[in-house]
Amino acid sequence: MTQRTPEASAAAETDALIQLQGVNKHFGDFHALKDIDLTIPRGQVAIVLGPSGSGKSTLCRTINRLETIDDGGRILIDGKPLPAEGRELARLRAEVGMVFQSFNLFAHKSILDNVTLGPIRVKGKKKAAAEAHAMELLERVGVAHQAKKLPAQLSGGQQQRVAIARALAMEPKALLFDEPTSALDPEMVQEVLDVMVGLATEGMTMVVVTHEMGFARKAGDRVIFMADGAILEDTDPESFFTNPQHDRARDFLGKIL
Ligand code: ADP
Ligand code: MG
Repeated sequence: MTQRTPEASAAAETDALIQLQGVNKHFGDFHALKDIDLTIPRGQVAIVLGPSGSGKSTLCRTINRLETIDDGGRILIDGKPLPAEGRELARLRAEVGMVFQSFNLFAHKSILDNVTLGPIRVKGKKKAAAEAHAMELLERVGVAHQAKKLPAQLSGGQQQRVAIARALAMEPKALLFDEPTSALDPEMVQEVLDVMVGLATEGMTMVVVTHEMGFARKAGDRVIFMADGAILEDTDPESFFTNPQHDRARDFLGKIL
């Protein structure tokens, strides 16, 4: 981030928030994640790029324990290992929010209820406090006036902004975004990216799978390029876009730019 002071950048380099150590994931015989070592410092915006099927979604899903990992690897959130199951997992999972391509809002609940459900059920927040916080967040993403509606009554861009508000309502330490604008009509992409740029500027730790190169250049601190379940390049956005090191990366950029 260009806005960040050198002191803040230096601190970010040493303060690991998400750590993957020797992470492997198999689906049957298929090796989807190959020995991933990755440290995301607090406050960093990491852009994950790679061809379809390279393991980007699987990476996000394992960080949030939506997928288990193979024996031997470790994932730590803020220094603590992610447990396999139980209450402790729910608590640690709440520390890393996730925003999906397909929004995944609860279709039969109001926008407001979508945002308050997690804080009430998982964090034990009182309804009034949860609603007050939710309204602030909906205001911030520009959909407060839609709070009583159902998701289907909103545009895709509005629904995705609600999904971001819902993730923020859990007061996460980091947010994962898996192609958050890929399902949107082109005219709605920017309104969602604007919210994400705002979060990045405020110092939110973010892992963002996206092919939006403008966003990657503007908000990204780092580009992680994946192919075939492995990290092939890990560098700053400018170096990646102007001087990719691997044929796979050059090939990928040739197709999307
Ligand atoms: P990306 O998000 O980069 O397109 P994914 O992480 O979705 O890639 O998938 C990586 C590979 O793992 C793909 O070949 C995909 O078919 C496979 N895969 C993902 N999820 C499953 C699953 N639940 N069962 C079997 N194979 C899967
Ligand atoms: Mg994917």
